[in-house]
Amino acid sequence: MKIGIVGCAGRMGRMLLAEILSTDGCELAGGTETPGHEAMGQDLGRLAGADPLGLTAGGDTGALFDASDTVIDFTAPDSTAGHGSMAAERGVALVVGTTGLGRAHLEALNLAARRTAVVQAANMSLGVNLLLGLARQSAALLGDDYDIEILEMHHRHKVDAPSGTALALGEAAAEGRGVKLDDVGQRARDGLTGPRRRGDIGFAALRGGDVAGEHSVIFATDGERLQLTHKASSRAVFAAGAVRAALWCQDREPGLYSMRHVLGLE
Ligand code: NAD
Repeated sequence: MKIGIVGCAGRMGRMLLAEILSTDGCELAGGTETPGHEAMGQDLGRLAGADPLGLTAGGDTGALFDASDTVIDFTAPDSTAGHGSMAAERGVALVVGTTGLGRAHLEALNLAARRTAVVQAANMSLGVNLLLGLARQSAALLGDDYDIEILEMHHRHKVDAPSGTALALGEAAAEGRGVKLDDVGQRARDGLTGPRRRGDIGFAALRGGDVAGEHSVIFATDGERLQLTHKASSRAVFAAGAVRAALWCQDREPGLYSMRHVLGLE
């Protein structure tokens, strides 16, 4: 399978290049970056920390989609929405790891999914996708005597908060309880907030250092606390998941899929 990487010089982009180069059945179709990016024109092998390949980071996104069976996108929400249209126009599959997607961005991906296979997941690791199921199941079993709080920590460069994974965990817990996260989500607390509202799902985001990603779902009641925690110690797990998703897209019917579909958990 020919796989293209948009955002190939980003933290995840470089990991994805390395993952493709070391995975059987994958061929690197190319990589793009934003105009004026310092990596423009650099060899993709070098960006992956490997030997030169003779393929360089370019700026022609259309040409990258034309040359790819699947494109992997870990960029930024507005870019991702545009890549959705390009994938749909060409019938090229799209794997989206970008987080911080708003309603309009998700709508663009939904539209693309009518014409091609789109896998979108805020977290591509096996462990987190298992955790989503455990959070849903625990919330369903424990009822709202148990206060649900979601705690996450990421590196200092992360631009969105709470993380997409934290929000996905909140959605899973809300689903387990049969409520909507929009109605019960408490995304920040500051000042004189008053006591905790029964049934709320709270979020707290920590930022610092080089933390690849840590998430805990906490169920706290009088006398006990259940805490489900996932810690990623390397971004390589996200890259491996994304490449697995890209391979899974081969000959896939158009549709919007999650990582839980790719992993056979759905
Ligand atoms: P980063 O800023 O290091 O990399 C993003 C790259 O995309 C940058 O190099 C930027 O120049 C490039 N880019 C932006 N728009 C582009 C466009 N239109 N065309 C080509 N290149 C473009 O960020 P990062 O740490 O690699 O994370 C990227 C995204 O992936 C974030 O939203 C992050 O939260 C998310 N992420 C998701 C997972 C997951 O498992 N789903 C894991 C880690 C990070």
